[in-house]
Amino acid sequence: MNTSEFRQHGHELIDWIADYFESIREFPVKSQVAPGDILKALPGSPPDRAEPFSEIFDDFQKKILPGMTHWQHPSFFAYFPANSSTPSVLGELLTSALAAQCMIWQTSPAAAELEEQVMEWLKQMLALPESFTGVIQDTASTATLCSILTARERISDYAINNAGLQMQPVYAVYCSSETHSSIEKAVKIAGLGRRNLRIIEVDDTFAMRPEALEDAIRKDLDDGVTPLCVIATIGTTGSTAIDPLREVGEICQKYKIWLHVDAAYAGTALLLPEMRWMSDGLELADTFVFNPHKWMATNFDCSAYFVRDKAALIRTFEILPEYLKTSEGSSVNNYRDWGVPLGRRFRALKLWFVIRSFGVSGLQEMVRRHLFLANDISNQIDQADDFERLAPTPLSLICFRYHPVGTDDPETLNRLNETLLTKLNSTGKLYMTHTKLNGAYTLRMVIAQTYVQQEDVANAWALIQETARSL
Ligand code: PLP
Repeated sequence: MNTSEFRQHGHELIDWIADYFESIREFPVKSQVAPGDILKALPGSPPDRAEPFSEIFDDFQKKILPGMTHWQHPSFFAYFPANSSTPSVLGELLTSALAAQCMIWQTSPAAAELEEQVMEWLKQMLALPESFTGVIQDTASTATLCSILTARERISDYAINNAGLQMQPVYAVYCSSETHSSIEKAVKIAGLGRRNLRIIEVDDTFAMRPEALEDAIRKDLDDGVTPLCVIATIGTTGSTAIDPLREVGEICQKYKIWLHVDAAYAGTALLLPEMRWMSDGLELADTFVFNPHKWMATNFDCSAYFVRDKAALIRTFEILPEYLKTSEGSSVNNYRDWGVPLGRRFRALKLWFVIRSFGVSGLQEMVRRHLFLANDISNQIDQADDFERLAPTPLSLICFRYHPVGTDDPETLNRLNETLLTKLNSTGKLYMTHTKLNGAYTLRMVIAQTYVQQEDVANAWALIQETARSL
């Protein structure tokens, strides 16, 4: 494809994307294909000769698009969102055009310095502690892994990087029973052993019980186990429970334990001064992560990771082969030493586009709108005789179920709600997912899509009621 063909097809694609955004409500939110359908439509071997772009694009529309779930559909209420926005798409387009590999300052000084600056902006926007320094990771899972590895190195005076874990004490990591699975994964990868992950009980709101945390720490100390790290969550995946940071942080200080705070989804709500009660005590944390790629209108992947001890992070990951030495040395940020991969995409660009295009007040407005819509639906659920909420709604995730009057058997209710969810998702008009809270099959409705409107939520709630009552 030469540049004049690129120009022509590029214009066509931008037109197609704009049309897609304008007509996105006409697509089924969740792909309705069966396993193997897409594979069947694809040739078994690659083309020998070059194919015209018009044919490739035609196949994209006919063969690929039906197999896509539309995460940017305003009726996407599943999981947590992976939001995009028009300025973010344009930022990604430029990133892919420049296709820079931003592993060190010298390989693109602007990428390194823009990343430094937008992380500083995010720190101000969320009112994070002054002592934090930020870096973009691909995902919150990677950020949590970085945190646990840094905690592991710091406690051992960097001996484990050198000699391995063989001569070390047993280290324990603590998180609540509602914590995201990425914590267990990080504990396994860090070589600490899944059996040394202590699962701390939660209270009625599904938040970590600090007394239970302290009991577990004391027990480990009595047993000769070394407490390494606590992971507290602001906005758990199941129900957006908020662990009491200050109390957890004070326990960590008392026993000199590393504290990582996972706010993958909920961190974006800290844009709002009225939501900053959630981060009370954050200055006691060693590290903090939130995902602009979830709720801040920024394309996946873009996870903002903040650390109090930048030197410890770098010392944990630093490598310096001859071919990566540069004259600037450590006078600049060489982000290859701030995480696991060497190679890095220019991810700060889309975030910069988003923050500037929305403005802080535009992003705040978006989050306030989501919180308002979630609160509105929560109230309607509370008023319906045959629906009930199964967890508080501190943010924009509503956990609820259909509970017709007179049907109280837990297993019957679980089956009923599972059937309801399957039916709803097969309409293509909305997409929700589930969790289990205290054994109850729970519908999760997350209202956080960048462009979701009151009408989308009202339509969804009407469909949920109608479908449930027809079961
Ligand atoms: N932490 C929490 C609380 C989450 O909800 C999620 C994903 O939903 C993650 C971590 C993992 O995020 P990522 O996909 O960025 O690794």
